[in-house]
Amino acid sequence: MNKTENDKKYQSKIDKLIKIMRDSGYLNDTKVELAIRKNPRHKFVPKSFQDKAYEDMPISLMKNQTISQPSVVSRMTEWLNIMEGQKILEVGCGSGWQTAILSYLVADGEVLSIEMHSELVKFAKENLNRLEIHNVDVILGDGSLGIPEESPFDRIIITAACKKVPFPLFQQLSIDGLLIAPVGEYPQSLILYKKTSQGIMEIKNQPGYVFVPLFGKFGYQEN
Ligand code: SAM
Repeated sequence: MNKTENDKKYQSKIDKLIKIMRDSGYLNDTKVELAIRKNPRHKFVPKSFQDKAYEDMPISLMKNQTISQPSVVSRMTEWLNIMEGQKILEVGCGSGWQTAILSYLVADGEVLSIEMHSELVKFAKENLNRLEIHNVDVILGDGSLGIPEESPFDRIIITAACKKVPFPLFQQLSIDGLLIAPVGEYPQSLILYKKTSQGIMEIKNQPGYVFVPLFGKFGYQEN
């Protein structure tokens, strides 16, 4: 199959997935739709799973990690209400797919993404470089600590489950900034927080999500 035939094959699958996410209410924002279309998910999954890239489910990556379910990525992105020029911290880069979507939405802003596994840092960087995405920095480290020297961040997204949000991440959020995280043991609730001059407020809370755990100093301890 040549490149054009291959792209066409995926195009109809992308269209179907977009329709499913729109019909189920997980995708409402045209800009987020465009960000998803511009960053085809099959370019962020291991080759052996490319045919499954447009099924609305998580897919295994190396180190027992997963690329998140498209509808969940869409919901988290929409709740964050990202604007051009913003500075975003992502905790848990995985494949770099969510990172690429954020990078499209901030345009001339920037995304810093921390990942704890060096294999995934390498994988995400390769995926992002192939799509010539340059406003992103993927960093190896413990995301539960954030990156204090780069703060404040306009938006923070935690893509792994935490018992409670690591307090350094709230500290590194700007006033009026938004933070989203799956919080709780099993299953988690997706919670959107806003930092105001009065403190942290919960803006949205929806139960029923399942994520891999957030490890690190302010996350779960690895065995
Ligand atoms: N959004 C990603 C994507 O599009 O592929 C999927 C993220 S996956 C559900 C969660 C990621 O968080 C995993 O890659 C895992 O290695 C990472 N992770 C878990 N604890 C971490 C920590 N303390 N610091 C950095 N990354 C962490």
